[in-house]
Amino acid sequence: MNIALIAHDKKKEDMINFSIAYSHILQEHHLYATGTTGKLISKATGLNIHRFMSGPLGGDQQIGAMIASNEMDMVIFFRDPLTAQPHEPDVSALMRLCDVYHIPLATNIAASEIFIHGLERGDLKWREIIKEKRQKEGNA
Ligand code: PGA
Repeated sequence: MNIALIAHDKKKEDMINFSIAYSHILQEHHLYATGTTGKLISKATGLNIHRFMSGPLGGDQQIGAMIASNEMDMVIFFRDPLTAQPHEPDVSALMRLCDVYHIPLATNIAASEIFIHGLERGDLKWREIIKEKRQKEGNA
């Protein structure tokens, strides 16, 4: 599965702890992250992560583009709801695309824990079927 990891600044420590705790599960997947989040996670865990631009510089939109191209299976996004973000429109656009394409989106650590256990159990295997179907439709 392709998984995106994003954390706003005040949630980055939570994201580091989360990725350390679940690195044994995350390492089985293809990981993508916004710039700073990805740098911190890979430094803390050694996980191999494809890093996009920093969120405020377009990273959220790059992840959104992957969603629109049917290349992202899950988004783990530790949002900070108490701080105004300069790239709020990008944040909304990313969440909107998750809803457009039925991509599982966890916006806090509590939901992310459930997602990661589901991932481990194989609850998201349906994504493979949808992905294949959309690819076939695209090729038809
Ligand atoms: P960052 O971006 O990982 O580059 O800090 C996250 C964000 O603030 O959207």
